[in-house]
Amino acid sequence: MSGCIFCKIAAGEIPATVVKRGDGMLAFKDLNAQAPTHLLVIPTTHVGTLNDAKDPGALGKLLAFARDVAQDAGVATKGYRVVVNTNPDGGQTVFHLHLHVLGGRVMHWPPG
Ligand code: 5GP
Ligand code: ZN
Repeated sequence: MSGCIFCKIAAGEIPATVVKRGDGMLAFKDLNAQAPTHLLVIPTTHVGTLNDAKDPGALGKLLAFARDVAQDAGVATKGYRVVVNTNPDGGQTVFHLHLHVLGGRVMHWPPG
């Protein structure tokens, strides 16, 4: 989708530190890391929010990919958090579906 920053990252039009590529999926470092490990997992084709995701199978693949990304990053055993901020009340600022994979420190609850 033109004007979408994550579509541009998926297309290689703007730089990102890519850590893993999957079938229709990409993982890269968050520009403004909130934890020692902070990666974003996206579908390479545009989906605006979790509400817009029509294919449960694709969502499952995305979650499994996030799990593999956490494993590769070395945070799986100690633990990590996968977050999908959705729409303004959920804290979403980039409207291309993405999973945050956060690890490398203890996560707190409740989230802010
Ligand atoms: P949201 O608030 O929508 O859940 O998360 C958007 C995330 O994208 C934020 O954590 C923000 O730091 C990250 N982000 C925004 N623009 C860019 C960018 O151009 N490159 C990268 N790597 N991350 C970005
Ligand atoms: Zn997009």
